[in-house]
Amino acid sequence: MLALDAAAGVVVGVFAVVAFFAVLWVALVFSMVRDARRRSESQVFALFTGALGLLPYLGILIYLVVRPPRTLDEERVLALEEQALALSEAQDTAMSDTRACPNCGREIENEFVICPYCRTQFARRCGSCQRWLRLGWQVCPYCAEEVGVRAFGGGRAASS
Ligand SMILES: [Zn+2]
Ligand SMILES: [Zn+2]
Repeated sequence: MLALDAAAGVVVGVFAVVAFFAVLWVALVFSMVRDARRRSESQVFALFTGALGLLPYLGILIYLVVRPPRTLDEERVLALEEQALALSEAQDTAMSDTRACPNCGREIENEFVICPYCRTQFARRCGSCQRWLRLGWQVCPYCAEEVGVRAFGGGRAASS
């Protein structure tokens, strides 16, 4: 009778241990799937995670290796930070009054009409009102003087 009690005790003990690990396993699988949901919007990935969880304890090790490195919240914050950075950079370039010389690529001021490094000319004076015009302009937008594309260096256009 006593031996039977002892055997029953062992069985209960083993059952308790097995039940403990089983409960721990189920809890692990649940937290794995919840973690997968936080890291990916894909239902397939959540299912895959659940399937991995069916592998007791080994599954979670595999999951830790293959899961996306960042949660969706972290991704969102990162994307926002990148957006803010790009925006401030765009503002910087808009506010800065320098540009690259189209010929030599060196930084020159926006107001420059000729590159001081390679002597490339970007603008010329209107022969009539003496204001600065872009090289491609054929007519002065300030005084409507015909300047022609070839008239360089402040000379009047040959056509007029
Ligand atoms: Zn230049
Ligand atoms: Zn003019």
